[in-house]
Amino acid sequence: MDLFKNEGKIFVISGPSGSGKSTIANALLEEPDTVFSISMTTRKIREGEVDGVNYYFVTDEEYDRTVAEGGFLEHAEIYNHKYGTPKKPALENLKKGLNVILEIEMQGALQVKESYPDAVLIFVLPPSLKILRERIENRGTDSKEEIDKRMAATVKELDYLKDYDYYIVNDIKEVAVETVKNIMRIEKQKVKNLPANFIEEYIKE
Ligand code: 5GP
Repeated sequence: MDLFKNEGKIFVISGPSGSGKSTIANALLEEPDTVFSISMTTRKIREGEVDGVNYYFVTDEEYDRTVAEGGFLEHAEIYNHKYGTPKKPALENLKKGLNVILEIEMQGALQVKESYPDAVLIFVLPPSLKILRERIENRGTDSKEEIDKRMAATVKELDYLKDYDYYIVNDIKEVAVETVKNIMRIEKQKVKNLPANFIEEYIKE
């Protein structure tokens, strides 16, 4: 079986706030040989979050140093906070043959695709903007003004859809999760993923 083992793959999950992308990204960890990339951020830790699990919460200085050292696979500023994917653990995990899940926004996703064209970009869409609005309203955590702002941001984010490889409509969560898992499984079966010396080793066995 080891003969078929090759470098791992990067799977990027993005989507508007309220699209359910985090739930989908977390469910992907149920797949074999799959790990989550833990980002660095300068934003404040929220209740229920754990440093080193949800994010590495760092100072501006630490973040800037990592940028200067070329320590990010991608990085971006969102709503005045900085976010970045640490390069070293991601590359080490790929070398080990693991799938690496990045749950990041669109500017970062495009940087990843540029450096790693084999990365698979998946865009999570709510079934409709009307339903997205209802979902956010039902959470009851945001003011009308805040919701209007988010909806406008979502419309802008749709500009990035064309640069993604796959879209997922998050209507029924279980179906959406299963579809993304299927994308992962299929992407792993591409012939170009096989090691360069595959035939040589295969006929030897
Ligand atoms: P939050 O602060 O709510 O956890 O995340 C805000 C946004 O930042 C989300 O869209 C999330 O996907 C994105 N994000 C989280 N980590 C990273 C990262 O390392 N790089 C980029 N580009 N975006 C990130």
